[in-house]
Amino acid sequence: MTRFVWILIVALCPLFANAEISFDKYFEARTLRVDFTLAGNYERTEIFMEQMKKQGEWAGSHKHLVDEANYGNFRYRLKDKETGEVLFSRGFSSLFQEWQTTPEAKKLDRSYYHVALMPYPKQKVQLIIEMRTWEGGFKELLALDIDPKDYFITEEKGPDYSIVPIMENGPHEKKVDLVFLAEGYQGNEMDKFQKDIKRLTDYLFAMAPYSKHKNDFNLYAVLVPSAESGTDVPGKGIYKSTAFNSHFFTFDEERYLTSKDLKAIHDAAAGAVYDQVFVLVNSTTYGGGGFYNYLTLSTVDNERSPQVFVHEFGHGFAGLADEYYSSSVAYEEFYNLKVEPWEPNITTLVDFDSKWKTMIADSIPQPTPRIKKYDGVVGLFEGGGYTDKGIYSPVMDCRMKTNEAPGFCPVCCDAIERTIRSYCE
Ligand SMILES: [Zn+2]
Repeated sequence: MTRFVWILIVALCPLFANAEISFDKYFEARTLRVDFTLAGNYERTEIFMEQMKKQGEWAGSHKHLVDEANYGNFRYRLKDKETGEVLFSRGFSSLFQEWQTTPEAKKLDRSYYHVALMPYPKQKVQLIIEMRTWEGGFKELLALDIDPKDYFITEEKGPDYSIVPIMENGPHEKKVDLVFLAEGYQGNEMDKFQKDIKRLTDYLFAMAPYSKHKNDFNLYAVLVPSAESGTDVPGKGIYKSTAFNSHFFTFDEERYLTSKDLKAIHDAAAGAVYDQVFVLVNSTTYGGGGFYNYLTLSTVDNERSPQVFVHEFGHGFAGLADEYYSSSVAYEEFYNLKVEPWEPNITTLVDFDSKWKTMIADSIPQPTPRIKKYDGVVGLFEGGGYTDKGIYSPVMDCRMKTNEAPGFCPVCCDAIERTIRSYCE
């Protein structure tokens, strides 16, 4: 081997070293939970620290530490304090960011509680939390030095709810660990809660691509009793005392079901080992909500609950966008048409090469007319992401567009499978 080649190899080594972070070198297999509040109004975002906790086993992959997907309106990263190397990163979205696009945010400041989970560092690290800007870059909101030996990182135990394994397929680090929390179920309704989980997840795992990946999931039920059954429906004067204060009429949208009580939600989930939290709401009313790596909810007893359950999990788990474009959603200027959106299943054509361009057959015109001939075909259909002009989606219909769609489109399937792999490899 010539000297030149040796120099080349030595020069390339740091690149390869960066490609995969050694979990055992930098982390112990426990969870660091960082709680913070995002607050502000339509033009201002501030962050306030709440608490740090050392929790149970780290549920995520030991291999995929630095996030390759780059989804979400925010992200957090752990950097080595000495070298500045990024050791771990995750994207997430927030109800706060959606609220910022409502008319109310022009008149009022609000705050939203957040919980970020990461593997527990062995050495001093810096936590960076950033928001995605309107122009598509990232803006730093917080840079916090964390000493893993800091005795203010509490190991206090949370509430001691019963946790029931619904399906276990292997070690947490190799599986998607999905925890269901009971919301609006009284103590004597826990059998119903477990049957509801079974019924809804049976529907999920009968649908592509989840049907091929049932063995990649562990499912757990956290039996959290509520004082009353159901949930709040403020627009109809219905108020129920429940564990996580969920409610319809979020942003005054009748069907929009959310909760702001992320502290109670993660306190309840903390007894389990989990990647994702799904709050199942014991109600017959139609609705739900899902936010990437933040929170997913749906009701259980509406005739369309199975479809809503799968749709909202598409948001919360895989970062999928809504493919519909005609709705009464109260957002103003949700997407910047001059920037490629981060969601995998919509495009502004600013960077279509990064999306599903190669999945469109040569015979399909682009843009693709919404006519029967192109039903079920991957193309470039104008309309998506609450916007009828300038945003395009991959198919005429998909689970991310309507409840009548037979399932997910090939582009959404692809994104879901990539997400599953990021937890299981
Ligand atoms: Zn789709």
